[in-house]
Amino acid sequence: MSNQPPVTTTDAGCPVASDEFSLAVGTNGPLLLQDTYLIEKLAHFVRERVPDRVYHVKGGGAFGYFEATADVTEWTKAGFLSKVGKRTPVLIRFSSVAGEEGYPDSDRDVRGWALRFYTEEGNYDLVGNNTPVFFVRDPMKFPDFIHSQERMPDTGLRSNNMQWDFWSLSPESAHQVTVLMSDRGTPRTWRHMNGFGSDTYMWENAGGKKFWVKYHFKTEQGIQNFTDAEAKAMRAEDLDCHRRDLWDAVAGGDYPSWRLEMQIMPYEDAADYRFNPFDVTKVWPHADYPPITVGRLVLDRNPENFFAQIVQAGFDVANFVPGIGPSPDRMVLARMLAYADSSRYRTGPNYAQLPVNQPLNEVHNYNKDGPMRYRHNGNQPVYAPNSYGGPKGDLQRYRDPSWFVEAAEIMRTAYESHRDDNDFIQPGMLYRQVMTQTDRDHLVDNIVGHLSQGVERPIQERAVNDYWAKVDPDLGAHVAHGLGMPKPNKP
Ligand code: NDP
Repeated sequence: MSNQPPVTTTDAGCPVASDEFSLAVGTNGPLLLQDTYLIEKLAHFVRERVPDRVYHVKGGGAFGYFEATADVTEWTKAGFLSKVGKRTPVLIRFSSVAGEEGYPDSDRDVRGWALRFYTEEGNYDLVGNNTPVFFVRDPMKFPDFIHSQERMPDTGLRSNNMQWDFWSLSPESAHQVTVLMSDRGTPRTWRHMNGFGSDTYMWENAGGKKFWVKYHFKTEQGIQNFTDAEAKAMRAEDLDCHRRDLWDAVAGGDYPSWRLEMQIMPYEDAADYRFNPFDVTKVWPHADYPPITVGRLVLDRNPENFFAQIVQAGFDVANFVPGIGPSPDRMVLARMLAYADSSRYRTGPNYAQLPVNQPLNEVHNYNKDGPMRYRHNGNQPVYAPNSYGGPKGDLQRYRDPSWFVEAAEIMRTAYESHRDDNDFIQPGMLYRQVMTQTDRDHLVDNIVGHLSQGVERPIQERAVNDYWAKVDPDLGAHVAHGLGMPKPNKP
């Protein structure tokens, strides 16, 4: 093999003279229009960015595999889960939600967990977070929620006031905010946190029997979090601590892994389960639906190119494989539109042709043309029906065209309440039954610290009296004390 480096070329492959000297008239210019390589280089440079994601901007990721470790054919016919020991290649992208590219990884935030299974039946994307619940249950409120976490329209600064105003007027956020304000809001690394599908999905077995399911990926590294003080100190030390940690661990052969545990609910249980099982602000308590271990996720390969494989990765909640589908969870239904729409905006209508987004199996359909298209079917028909052997849909896929939608009136309505539905029951369970005394102490300190930074008094009062005191009277009293406010009345 020659040690000579290759000769530089234009993007069209034509050899060029220099990457050092532009073509000038004399030593001090002017420069010449016919230096087309300089023009190509500068023109390409100013087009290096694609629009950022609107949220979940800062992230990192890795490749690896998922291995099925239990027989789940009783519940799903999904091919990649069909045999114990079967391995499926995966891509994962972790992220923070609110900050832009360059924001400190250690800041308090929820972390995104976008997982793609490259299955033989197409890409299956499971896009969740490191928490089992979410801030809102209706997609109508989603853009407002994100706006409240971003920057002020006038100052361009982030605002705790705006965040608490939205949260304290949205009681359904209390469960997620309790987790966010605990030390789980500042994970030490992406490796030391759990991942959740968060929303409820459907599994269907080969006999057509359906089940409602929730995905929990439990870290095999153990949970590790920063305290609030450690997270703030890390801002000064390393803005990219999470991205760096994942890269270093994988590069060093210390492959992180997670155990996939499923909660599985018989289809018929949903109607009168004590919580609305399609409300993403609620969990299914483990005692009701004990988690079943079904597989293991291992990350063992770093990307070769961060932009091509992580920035341009376009996950899509609507990417389901046979045996897995959505549930009536309104957030899932809206997300099935929004993700592909975001990729079409960011990287164009042919984003699915990028190598990182391509499925393993062949794609057959009648989509054509559009910017940057390179996959094509030669002279194959570009319309259906046709007489020339073009692809045909499989009606079996939709033999039950309603999937899950029971006959119902179409209307704008509040989420259907079930017997124990109440926005404060589950965060109260977390506070009283699950957290240690240290967890509770840190939660109070973190809430008081956050509410003390630029939050107006009436919003602080609402956060204490209409929010934390309802999660737990003792918690409300501690937060009130920390803010120098009178003890809240018993809710
Ligand atoms: P369980 O006692 O059966 O489970 C509690 C869960 O909470 C475990 O999954 C545990 O797993 C997790 N956990 C432990 N410490 C914390 C913490 N400081 N912050 C967040 N999660 C923590 O309880 P239930 O299933 O009856 O649920 C009780 C409450 O636990 C819920 O209201 C919810 O807030 C929380 N929870 C429940 C989950 C569920 O799917 N049922 C999942 C996660 C939390 P680990 O330490 O491995 O994360």
